[in-house]
Amino acid sequence: MSLGQVEINFAYVVSTALFIFGLKMLSSPATARRGNMLSGVGMLLAIVVTLLAAGIAYHWVFLGILVGSVAGLIGAYRVKMTAMPEMVALFNGFGGLASMLLSWSEYHQVQQLSTFIALVTVLSVFIGSITFTGSMVAWGKLSGKISQKPVIFQGQHLINAAAFALALLAALFFILSPAPPLGYLVFLAVLLVALAIGVTSTIPIGGADMPVVISLLNSYSGLAACAAGFVVSNNILIVAGALVGASGIILTRIMCKAMNRSLANVLFSGFGKAIAKDAGGEGPKGEVRPASAEDVFYILEAADSVAFVPGYGLAVAQAQHVVRELGDILEANGTEVAYAIHPVAGRMPGHMNVLLAEANVSYDQLVEMDDINPRMDSVDVCVVIGANDVVNPAAVHEQGSPIYGMPIIETYRAKTVIVMKRSMNPGFAGIENALFYEENTRMFFGDAKASIQALIAEFKSVNA
Ligand code: NDP
Repeated sequence: MSLGQVEINFAYVVSTALFIFGLKMLSSPATARRGNMLSGVGMLLAIVVTLLAAGIAYHWVFLGILVGSVAGLIGAYRVKMTAMPEMVALFNGFGGLASMLLSWSEYHQVQQLSTFIALVTVLSVFIGSITFTGSMVAWGKLSGKISQKPVIFQGQHLINAAAFALALLAALFFILSPAPPLGYLVFLAVLLVALAIGVTSTIPIGGADMPVVISLLNSYSGLAACAAGFVVSNNILIVAGALVGASGIILTRIMCKAMNRSLANVLFSGFGKAIAKDAGGEGPKGEVRPASAEDVFYILEAADSVAFVPGYGLAVAQAQHVVRELGDILEANGTEVAYAIHPVAGRMPGHMNVLLAEANVSYDQLVEMDDINPRMDSVDVCVVIGANDVVNPAAVHEQGSPIYGMPIIETYRAKTVIVMKRSMNPGFAGIENALFYEENTRMFFGDAKASIQALIAEFKSVNA
């Protein structure tokens, strides 16, 4: 059976609706899972309908589906929660590469291009190539395969600007005169310069800012796919690409806002370098007050309200299930329990929401930063679990701090703060945290999961 263009376009409209409803549902933890499923069904429909179009070389398509599915499945099963941003970087990179290869192969087949098709061809190759190499650098930095430090040298911005101008000129030439052999040479020049720009524009950005860059590259991969959709006249590729492009840029904005930084500052300031210098400074002074499991048990046992503040360490320790168990015990003890989520806690947006949802923490108990801060003074105990930068009061009090102005969860205003971490080491931004020295703070050192298990054991031994 092969479908005509009308049926195919009708199915594409249905897919588009499913994508949009799915995206809308992703904005709330309560509906995100179903939203993801809905978008997946939309994509399946689009793929099946596309495959039913006439004139497709099925053996190659099925080989591609087989190889891609096996690689994707193994990757998704094996990836650790803490390595999720790296995986997204790889996805983006391959998305960009696919768009670039698609447009390249299309140019091979149809060498007499109209001005518009030449424009979208060179756009998709340019953006797709930058996305590919940029994502590979981002993946390398996040996974520690290459140094996380910003690589900065004199005249860097000038070189990048010159490369950009060169690619732009070559692209213009190609749009006006795409016919080979000269058009083909210019096309290859655009492709090579774009691959280089992907590397040179990503290496000056520090590892701490990589998740923002990945979100931006995600947007680029969508734009490249959208342009490739015009090249092959495929409506669903145009729509899906545009949706990815738009949602990627919205997410990038949200992340920048949550860190109180502009996108230009993320892309051009070499943030990690400034922090490295700061880390060598004098840092906060005062006394650290360690607490044992028994001490913390007595504090929690007497509390009327407890707010857990999870961070990256929760993901490292995989403590989400035990924290839910402790939360349930506290509730049974008559304590009001909330989980306060910072938008950039962890290493990707929604990182904490995903972990807590995995442990079946009720969505009603998740509280956003802007909702918990106004009532922080009335919280009896804040339990900070492997969070550091997102609770660092330097963001509020120290004008010279690299994170000054970043909104934080103001745990220091709670009556008592318990901080669970393994040492006095700084968090991702590499700066010391005055919260650990506050009078109302007790440090509960150790792996977060083991510490919470010790607390659960204390509660159980008393109730036995
Ligand atoms: P941080 O990286 O600031 O701190 C994590 C803390 O967890 C560390 O201090 C570490 O201390 C502790 N830790 C690590 N392993 C364990 C363990 N097994 N048990 C207990 N504690 C552990 O995390 P936050 O979540 O507070 O902040 C996120 C950072 O990432 C921010 O700087 C944010 O700007 C940045 N970022 C996040 C993005 C996002 O989208 N989420 C995007 C871009 C940047 P110790 O080693 O002593 O145990």
